[in-house]
Amino acid sequence: MEELGQFCCQNAECPDAGKRGCGNLTVTTWYGPNKSRRMLRCLTCKSRFSERKGTPLFGARLPDERVVGILAHVAEGVGTRKTARLTKTHQDTVTRYIRLAGDQAQKLHDELVAFSPYNDRSSVR
Ligand SMILES: [Zn+2]
Repeated sequence: MEELGQFCCQNAECPDAGKRGCGNLTVTTWYGPNKSRRMLRCLTCKSRFSERKGTPLFGARLPDERVVGILAHVAEGVGTRKTARLTKTHQDTVTRYIRLAGDQAQKLHDELVAFSPYNDRSSVR
């Protein structure tokens, strides 16, 4: 279970969106299988969101271990078809998790990297 300081408000309108370790998050409820997942609340904007929001695990129907296993294959450079065969998962499902992980990676990239050489030059000030 990750510390709350590793999370940030998911409400893009919130002044504390994307800021970690501000002490603005609290746990309101536990939900999911065996009530193992936390519902977080931002004290700044009062919004609530799952601790899994924005990750490939949010809304996943497969168990966490299978999703992590699929993405571990992909991270090692194993192709979609081979990953599907090795993890006994439908190819479309593998593709769906690759896209979800890619979306999360893009957001992380945008947060951590000040400038990418692939940015559109017209948006640079
Ligand atoms: Zn907020």
